[in-house]
Amino acid sequence: MHSARLGFGFLAIAMLAFALRAQAASAPDWSAIDAEALGYYRAYLRFDTTDPPDNTSQAIAYLKSLLDKDGIENQTFESVPGAVNLVARIPGPPGVKPFLMMSHADVVPAVAADWSHPPFSADLDGGYVWARGAIDNKAHGIMALMTLIIIKREKLPLRRGIEMMVNADEEAGGADGAQWMVKNHWNAIDPAFAVNEGGSAGFDPISGAPVFRVAVAEKNVDWLKLTARGQSGHGSVPTADNPTLILIDALARVVKRQPDLRLTPVMAHAFALMAPHEQSPISFELAHANRPPMLEALSRGPLHSDSMQALLRDTITPTMLRGSAKINVIPSTATAGLDCRLLPGTDPSAFLESVTKLIGDRRITIDHLQNPASAAPSPDSGELWDAINRVVARDLPGDVVLPWMTTGGTDSRFLREKGVPSYGFIPIVLNAREERRFHGVDERLSVKNLDLGIRATYDLALDVCGAGK
Ligand SMILES: [Zn+2]
Repeated sequence: MHSARLGFGFLAIAMLAFALRAQAASAPDWSAIDAEALGYYRAYLRFDTTDPPDNTSQAIAYLKSLLDKDGIENQTFESVPGAVNLVARIPGPPGVKPFLMMSHADVVPAVAADWSHPPFSADLDGGYVWARGAIDNKAHGIMALMTLIIIKREKLPLRRGIEMMVNADEEAGGADGAQWMVKNHWNAIDPAFAVNEGGSAGFDPISGAPVFRVAVAEKNVDWLKLTARGQSGHGSVPTADNPTLILIDALARVVKRQPDLRLTPVMAHAFALMAPHEQSPISFELAHANRPPMLEALSRGPLHSDSMQALLRDTITPTMLRGSAKINVIPSTATAGLDCRLLPGTDPSAFLESVTKLIGDRRITIDHLQNPASAAPSPDSGELWDAINRVVARDLPGDVVLPWMTTGGTDSRFLREKGVPSYGFIPIVLNAREERRFHGVDERLSVKNLDLGIRATYDLALDVCGAGK
């Protein structure tokens, strides 16, 4: 009796082992994939793609050589000398629009002297790869590349094509990158939906519970230049029509009176999803945040942080100031730059009118340095949204997937303007200290995060494109 039971136990174990082996035979060899990806990632990071001057040609040529090696169809597009964009694809059935994975190859400048590892060395130290672009945004490119490579090598059947686009010029506004591609080579992309940078694993700003934020919207950039005109003269004689004084007074009025709180549908939905996880009375206030007294209570209390405030208002940030070029000369003009960011739904002309009124001085003129974009948010529902939710549940931490908004701009806006749902989804896990490194000193990404991101990107691609479902 005893031995018979044992025998049955062995059989069960043997069958399980067989089943696992059979499954392993059809699954990618992840340790080999991870090692290969790490090599590609570090090599890609060693190309100095600092923008300006936005030269991505060598980095893109490198990615192209990897795609060519695996026989993956690809094209490059040069918008201005040196600014090269790349599109690669594994086609699906005709008539079905593909799934697009976007990233950018350019990076912001790094001052090497401040770094503990040279910013283009891609040193591997302490389980991290150290380099400018490690997070923003070259890891994302490698996750997309490896996903294409695995699908191609495994000859996985697709019900929808899959493509990657790697752009130049994102850090300088995208005019020679994603925007140029959308304008001039839409036929080469034309996706059903897309994932891009923006959004991440993080913590609920109130309860601290793990959440995963997926960007469905971003604030619209509206850069204004103020020019104050007055009477020039000698600095030894103070005058009332000194343009520097006129400008300072106006700026004081503007910053003292920031725009009112406004709850967008995106944040209203995020708050409604957060509400059940919070304590009373915050849970009640979040669930009813569309009532102004509730929103004000939240804004004074649990949502008082600068980053939350920026998601609940149009914002005006004075960043550039210019008066006289000489200390003893009163100039005839003084100028200021205002970095304004508008919530989705804010009418730019009504906003301009309110700023003009706040300034209330005809000696000051206002010009647009960049015309506000007007991309509408992507829906937090639908095929790709649902797939992202499944992948977060399977691969990533976060009790809740929150539709979120980024305060900064990304290339997603060019797709959203074409009506293509575009989601900020970077499947990695960073704490706040690590997050601060991007665009900062000692940017780095753990190898563990790179591996996690590749797996999650692959799972997402199979979910929305695989025919085996
Ligand atoms: Zn970026």
